[in-house]
Amino acid sequence: MDPLLAYTTEKVPEITDWIEQLVKIESPSSDPAAVNRAVEFVADRLAGEAEVVRHRANGFGDHLRLEFPLPGRRKQAQVLGIGHLDTVYPVGTLASMPFKRAQGRLWGPGVFDMKSGVTYFVFAARALRDLDIPVRRRFVVQLNSDEEIGSPSSRRYTEREAKKSVAALIAEPSAGPEGNVKTARKGGGGFRIGVRGIAAHAGLDFAAGASAIVELARQIERVAEWTDLAKGITINPGLIRGGTATNTVAEEAWAEVDVRVPRKSDARRLERKFASLKSFDRRTQVRVEGNLRRPPMERNRAILGIYRLARKLSRELGLELGEAQVGGGSDGNFTAALGLPTLDGIGAVGERPHSPGECIYVDRIADRVALIAKVIAAL
Ligand SMILES: [Zn+2]
Repeated sequence: MDPLLAYTTEKVPEITDWIEQLVKIESPSSDPAAVNRAVEFVADRLAGEAEVVRHRANGFGDHLRLEFPLPGRRKQAQVLGIGHLDTVYPVGTLASMPFKRAQGRLWGPGVFDMKSGVTYFVFAARALRDLDIPVRRRFVVQLNSDEEIGSPSSRRYTEREAKKSVAALIAEPSAGPEGNVKTARKGGGGFRIGVRGIAAHAGLDFAAGASAIVELARQIERVAEWTDLAKGITINPGLIRGGTATNTVAEEAWAEVDVRVPRKSDARRLERKFASLKSFDRRTQVRVEGNLRRPPMERNRAILGIYRLARKLSRELGLELGEAQVGGGSDGNFTAALGLPTLDGIGAVGERPHSPGECIYVDRIADRVALIAKVIAAL
């Protein structure tokens, strides 16, 4: 058996213990104190084993930078592992969705996205250290606390580390039951379309009014038509509010629109189109805010190069590593946009992230941790 795989197989009980403890520390992005309990768990456990730096972030939990001393002489540049400790589940979710081990799986809030992925980085580093496998690069792991809400405060740390790195490994959930990595992700963001009309009594004074709701409805029709499924562009007006009473011509209305694009050129074009929205009824005012802050991760040569490397290493473990293209974004979008070879979805193999059925497969823990270690050593 491959020596790394033999090591990680033996460590599975310890790895699942770590995951259990992390899952039991609930850590929604919106609750900095809760996220910081997860941050403290990791920082405490790794004291003496990794160099730990905490970046304070206003309004969010802290972001952690971990540097693992690994075997091998002089190191040049670094490999960057990126994970996040926040989840989408509010504190209290454990009551209805407790951590459990059953049917060959681990279950619980954030187990797949990505308390397991974070744990895999730690054990991949331990494997390289304990087996004395030489590594040419420094290995730095950054754990963000705000990824699930678009990484507003951690993005600059991610980009700063990315610029010093030769490659980024993103411990996001893999795709599909076979554990495919993600070689393309859509970019995205959101726009808020606000309309101010003129209020009037709907019975006494209708003609004096200019309805913000009618105007907004027309704007929504217009932007929704920019969806182009053949190009993978989706425009989703997902939230809408407006008006005060049925017998009043509405003075205010607004909608929030989720936009996803696979190509940078489409992102820029759509930003211009949103910015140039004009009112149909000149008596109303249309105001647009927002942008496509997450750039697309395009399936380019840098991405394919690191994917092919991982696929080759995966064969040493007796597995064929597939790839997938997905709509959702991650911190990998930021590293890929800087031209960095980015291997995303290298985290756990499992099912149904962000849902009550979220789980990972126990029999895919060992090979995944071994694969991460192999990629670090090969870069
Ligand atoms: Zn995630």
